[in-house]
Amino acid sequence: MTKLGFIGLGIMGGPMSAHLAAAGHAVRGYDVHADALAKLAAAGGTAATGIADAVADADVVITMLPNHPQVEEVVLGPEGVLASARPGTLLIDMSTIRPETSIEIARAAGDKGIRVLDAPVSGGQAGAEQASLSIMVGGEEEDVATARPLLEAVGSTIVHVGPHGAGQVVKAANQLVVGGIYGLVAEAIVLMEASGVDAKTGLDVLAGGLAANRILDLKRESMVAREFRPGFRIDLHHKDMGIALAAARQADVSLPLTGLVAQLVAAGRSMGYGALDHSALLKVTEQLSGRSEAQE
Ligand code: NAD
Repeated sequence: MTKLGFIGLGIMGGPMSAHLAAAGHAVRGYDVHADALAKLAAAGGTAATGIADAVADADVVITMLPNHPQVEEVVLGPEGVLASARPGTLLIDMSTIRPETSIEIARAAGDKGIRVLDAPVSGGQAGAEQASLSIMVGGEEEDVATARPLLEAVGSTIVHVGPHGAGQVVKAANQLVVGGIYGLVAEAIVLMEASGVDAKTGLDVLAGGLAANRILDLKRESMVAREFRPGFRIDLHHKDMGIALAAARQADVSLPLTGLVAQLVAAGRSMGYGALDHSALLKVTEQLSGRSEAQE
């Protein structure tokens, strides 16, 4: 049994912390939303009164927060994890943030004798609920070994991909590929519909050939039916495209397709689709051609 502090009990952190409690760990969780705390208590964890209360006695701290400003506040803030946790504690940040911030946090934590891993996830809300997340881990080998039994309670694929920040780089690569595929599936739908071809039938053929991919498998029906309930929101994908471009700048490389996809995702947000699933890139693509569902 591990004494665990868990901060950020939202769409992902809620079910993840519940799985860890169900696996027999003593989970002390904190979130700024009271209903998230109540859910953790109902799932067998303990609601903490603040960050310090969640982490002071912990062996391992997990953070699952929206973006780098929240991670910086929770980890580096005056009453944050580094100020409150004991030396020797392992901090696993599972949020999707800039690799740069993960590296800065590892450096600041090292000064306090606190070990750190960046361990962002792929698999979405369903993956969190089913404990089947893919987890890409950056950091030291021995810390990954310590974390592995805990990560196995929330994920089915756990891969150590390199040093601090490498987990975030792999996650950025994942998000740029996912965004690009959504953009291209959207273009395929618009082309077929504008040409008077049944898009559902066309995509069924694509899904059996070289163009086959998981997004076609999971999303082609809902996209053709214009069902855009999230899922993974455009707003979060916008954040992740920004992370991919920032990582590209940091690595001194040019990623032209990523830049283009980032602009399409940004357009989706500007058009008011931020709260829709990222498959709503289809709405952006349609509007670029002056088309809307009404014209089908
Ligand atoms: P969310 O907004 O549902 O959850 C984040 C939680 O953090 C919220 O409950 C919020 O109240 C809490 N929080 C924010 N600031 C806080 C603070 N200062 N102190 C304590 N709690 C605080 O977001 P989510 O969907 O769970 O995503 C979390 C991370 O996982 C993000 O980085 C996201 O990109 C990543 N992610 C999400 C998905 C997905 O499908 N939702 C998939 C993969 C990765």
